Amino acid sequence: MYWHLHSICDTAVGDGLLAPNPCQLNVKKPARQIEPVTLEPAQVAAAVKVIEPQRFQAMVLIGEWCGLRWGELGELRRKDISDNAEIITVARGHRHEGGCHIDTPKSGKTRTVAVPPHIRADIKHHLDTNVADAPEALLLTGQSKCGHLSDATFRDAWHKALKAVGCQPTRLQDMRHFCGTMTAMTGATLTENMSRMDHSTVTSSVIYQDVVAGADEKIATALSALASADAAPTASVNRLALQRSVRRRGPHPPRRRTPDDHGGIRHACTPMDIARVSSAVQSDY
Ligand SMILES: [Zn+2]
Repeated sequence: MYWHLHSICDTAVGDGLLAPNPCQLNVKKPARQIEPVTLEPAQVAAAVKVIEPQRFQAMVLIGEWCGLRWGELGELRRKDISDNAEIITVARGHRHEGGCHIDTPKSGKTRTVAVPPHIRADIKHHLDTNVADAPEALLLTGQSKCGHLSDATFRDAWHKALKAVGCQPTRLQDMRHFCGTMTAMTGATLTENMSRMDHSTVTSSVIYQDVVAGADEKIATALSALASADAAPTASVNRLALQRSVRRRGPHPPRRRTPDDHGGIRHACTPMDIARVSSAVQSDY
């Protein structure tokens, strides 16, 4: 805000409306923030292939396709990954603020996330080659006393990989953004998306009643379909179709019951839903 005012006053000085700029406080100019970026699945795959060190590969894949927050990703341990890497249990998150703090996920609840089949082998390979045998062994280790990897180290490696494949840098929370968007594109309901993303900003308890057993596994499979090279154009087509559909129906389509309702209210995610999830995901990171 201060620098916005400073800029306005600078313009006024240039126009001769003000003598000196009255904004003379010694305030450090904030670093320019990276704009949110949602990659395409093929871009994620390309960058993962070249990221160094290679032990970061599986972690990027989990971040992108399972939508964990950075603090949750860095706190994953061997015991949190099921046999064959089908399910990840997200029970904790960590943060480094005046020391290392490990706590429950932001929602305060443990959740399980179905892993899209196309990344399970990568996670298993990571466990076999980069993770100690103990159940408590971290999947991602760093040099800090607590054993966690610093977010700066991970971010730098990811940015270098993105640059190597011609993509602009993304924020770590954009991994979550990517997952929320892709999940919506599978046709998941807003509720299912929110459940997968551990997203609690939309407060209607009715929404949560719509989650059906096994829904996340179906979503995980559909995400893998999106990840395949052949599916990428289809995903774009689906997005366009959704946008056209919304233009035809208007921004607030009525909710209606469908045969696969499983007893709840269900509607396909519209771009507005995606935007709601994405923006809430950002505030919920
Ligand atoms: Zn730590």
